Amino acid sequence: MHELSIAQSIVDIIGQYVPQQDRHTVRSVKVRIGDLAGVVPDSLSFCFSAITSGTPIAEAILEIEHVPYVLHCTACQSDSTTEPGLAICPRCGSRQTTVLSGTELQVVTIDVDDDLPEHL
Ligand SMILES: [Zn+2]
Repeated sequence: MHELSIAQSIVDIIGQYVPQQDRHTVRSVKVRIGDLAGVVPDSLSFCFSAITSGTPIAEAILEIEHVPYVLHCTACQSDSTTEPGLAICPRCGSRQTTVLSGTELQVVTIDVDDDLPEHL
């Protein structure tokens, strides 16, 4: 399952950035996911909850920011959103295009609750 391995990577990234004793203070994790990543947000949220259940980050909320697939056309110098994976400019039909966004799959921010005492 695609989403399961991505959810695991997100948990691994939290583990790299947040020391073990502070993990219970993680409130939310924001990830940016492009159209081309082929991720079903609901499925990813479900997998994330399943993996974190019973761990210090069980309360953390996964925030998913969707990034549209945008093509830049060098023939007509336009940027347009189009069907994910399509490399043809929807304005002029040219194939001289480059992908501007939509391939993202990254953790943007990890929010921790600073109000809690550091060591309980
Ligand atoms: Zn074009």
